[in-house]
Amino acid sequence: MRVYDLIAKKRDGKSLNLEEIHFFIQQVISGEIPDYQTSALLMAIFLNGMSPQETTLLLKEMIGSGATLDLSSILGVKVDKHSTGGVGDGISLVLAPLVAACGIPVPMMSGRGLGHTGGTLDKLESIPGFRTSLSSSEFISQMSKIGVVLAGQTESLAPADDKLYALRDVTATVESIPLISASILSKKIAEGCDALVLDVKAGLGAFTQEKKEAIKLASTMVGLGKRCRKKMVALVTNMDSPLGAAIGNALEIEQAIEILRGKEWKNVMDFIELTDILGGWMLFLGGHARNSIEGKDKISEMRKSGKGLEKFKEIISSQGGNVSVCDRPKEVLPKAKFMKEIPSPWKGTISSMNARSVGVASLLLGAGRQTLTSVIDPSAGILLHKKVGDSLERGESIAQFYYSNEENLDAAEKTFMAGLNIGRTRPKPKPLVYSVIK
Ligand code: URA
Repeated sequence: MRVYDLIAKKRDGKSLNLEEIHFFIQQVISGEIPDYQTSALLMAIFLNGMSPQETTLLLKEMIGSGATLDLSSILGVKVDKHSTGGVGDGISLVLAPLVAACGIPVPMMSGRGLGHTGGTLDKLESIPGFRTSLSSSEFISQMSKIGVVLAGQTESLAPADDKLYALRDVTATVESIPLISASILSKKIAEGCDALVLDVKAGLGAFTQEKKEAIKLASTMVGLGKRCRKKMVALVTNMDSPLGAAIGNALEIEQAIEILRGKEWKNVMDFIELTDILGGWMLFLGGHARNSIEGKDKISEMRKSGKGLEKFKEIISSQGGNVSVCDRPKEVLPKAKFMKEIPSPWKGTISSMNARSVGVASLLLGAGRQTLTSVIDPSAGILLHKKVGDSLERGESIAQFYYSNEENLDAAEKTFMAGLNIGRTRPKPKPLVYSVIK
């Protein structure tokens, strides 16, 4: 078999069979296929798509490209949640401990920030000492001791995805439904979960900006997961403007701690509502609620009780982090050298706040990576005082910028302001959840 022939077949819009996909993935993990041929095949897949059968074969071969975690020694339905990436989306930090505190095992393997979006691992690493890289045996041992892990992908899981993802990132082939679906699900299925709740973002700050495209992605992933005998549900959710009030790594940890303490305040109510909804579905799939509404009520009660914070402390302690962050977050978390208030240029009401602009502004302040090798400043980011629908006086602060390097401050401020519309009338509120795909 020749890779050349596979590229030509896909270029001409034909489907690849099991032997061909197996051959391709084996060539990728053995390193025998040169990057230019992998890239050409990825682009042919990007342009011509894949049938559901081909996508299933690709997913299975990607799972089989490495080890899979055996969590059969852990009792109960293991439930995970995955978001396709957003701005201010630190929900995993709150959701994993809350769901685990309700008695459901949560093996959560998360990722790093990608482009203008944040990543759970980067956020957790702003807690001094916190280890996101666990071996398979550490992962399983922590699951059996405290019922929850918040870590990165262990090296041996779905190695084909690592290679393919790195190439897709630099060849403009990320936004492909079969490639995204196989990439996300190969990692989630290899980690050994039984059920998965997907949060597929749609809107200005999401990788899938069009709602129709996000629904298609969600349906593809639900179908694929079910074919691999996983319990699946996907929520297509609004990512036009940032979730919550904090954007940036340490800032999002501090916000998560306050929410886990049971606190509620105006600027985080969208974050809290989505956490409760996603948690409700996790409890339902895990068999701890008769439906997602009952599950949502249970999560909400658990959140308000503050017991989720105890679970978060167990996670931090088990993964080597400084637990006192939960009692004294401002003292323990890294602090930015500078803070600047961003004033409103005139009186009015915020009619829109582009999540992508806010994400890019935060990245420019140091909270994200501009290149693959950039080092994140954990203390950098943005704290929103005002959200969509809020009124403003001229000169009133919209947000605080936190940074330690002034180099990109002007660019960050311009980007943030360019994404903001301040008008005369209050906009009609948009739904948080557009659709649920089961
Ligand atoms: N996240 C992933 O893990 N893979 C993709 O392809 C896109 C987002």
